[in-house]
Amino acid sequence: TNGLTVHELAQEIKQPDTEVIKFLFFKGIATNINQTLDIPTAKMVAEAFEVEVETAEAESEAKKTTEMLDDADLENLKQRPPVVTIMGHVDHGKTSLLDAIRKAKVASGEAGGITQHIGAYHVDVEHDGNKRQVVFLDTPGHEAFTAMRARGTRVTDIAVLVVAADDGVRPQTIEAISHAKAAQVPIVTAINKIDKETASADRVKQELMEHGLVPEEWGGDSIMVPVSAITGENLDLLLEMLLLQAEVEDLNANPDRLAKGTVIEANLDKARGPVATLLIQNGTLRIGDSMVVGSVFGKVRAMIDDRLNRVEAASPSFAVEVLGLNDVPQAGDEFEIFASEKEARSVADDRATDQRQSRIQQSLASRRVTLNTLS
Ligand code: GDP
Ligand code: MG
Repeated sequence: TNGLTVHELAQEIKQPDTEVIKFLFFKGIATNINQTLDIPTAKMVAEAFEVEVETAEAESEAKKTTEMLDDADLENLKQRPPVVTIMGHVDHGKTSLLDAIRKAKVASGEAGGITQHIGAYHVDVEHDGNKRQVVFLDTPGHEAFTAMRARGTRVTDIAVLVVAADDGVRPQTIEAISHAKAAQVPIVTAINKIDKETASADRVKQELMEHGLVPEEWGGDSIMVPVSAITGENLDLLLEMLLLQAEVEDLNANPDRLAKGTVIEANLDKARGPVATLLIQNGTLRIGDSMVVGSVFGKVRAMIDDRLNRVEAASPSFAVEVLGLNDVPQAGDEFEIFASEKEARSVADDRATDQRQSRIQQSLASRRVTLNTLS
């Protein structure tokens, strides 16, 4: 499922094998007719020969990455924005980059420039003449990945790896790469701080090659964008590249069903009660929906987006703050919508009973150990 051979590709795009081999050679990729090309490379070749590709392989890859979808959804898929997390070594500029993108793309166009901290925000991007969105999760990348791995869910579509151009690949850079690889999340690298005199993007690229990330311009399939969070240079290009990567990933969801998704953050607000920021991963969340999250339940009373707007509905990949839950759910928990509040309450009650029982059993087990140790 990971690609097709040079010969198969040549047949697919109705070109002689030699033309494809020659093209790849000039791109710096030495191949023969039996060598397997990955999907992005095959796509790149096909597009260079002006052929639109829709390989079966690409489709099955897409199904794998849309884990929250079931068979019925597959007939009703619509493109959804990529959900992006930022990772990288400390002080390489993760926070600065997020802030710079938010300031440049969100605050300026908003009334009063207010953005609320809800653990996620979206930016609008012009892409191929269309208005598209990119959703950024504000949680530190490694936390998002750890939570994801622990629960086996995937909340991120793309990881932005921030590497400071004056410092290069460091231990947490390597850690970030291996987290992303383990979770099968594609990496787009932002080579940051290129405004600095001591910056060298080429050195960073060379170091990244040693960890399996080969830049496109050197014949690989890894997107690397030199940026500066301070001067704002190339931030637009970075967003553009995230949308390109999203196209490769073929990110879809079915907005015409009850919502499913994951809790990104939750807390108890003195005035508003339990507040949860939810990432919608499939379906559409609406006011009045009856929700269960872990053993917490409720009816969605209000939804607020990252721009402080009250919204009636939230579609796939968007994050909203939700009011109306009976308690504070756990970050990382998945939520589900039920047909009635009664049903939601009974599912939540059952889970609460299960949890109580397992807690009692655990505490009994530990007491037994203590007694044994004592005697
Ligand atoms: P984080 O630990 O990865 O979140 O890094 P920060 O965003 O806190 O940035 C660490 C330091 O690097 C801060 O002093 C920033 O002002 C500085 N910094 C971040 N991005 C840039 C950049 O593009 N250029 C320069 N010159 N400094 C930067
Ligand atoms: Mg930071």
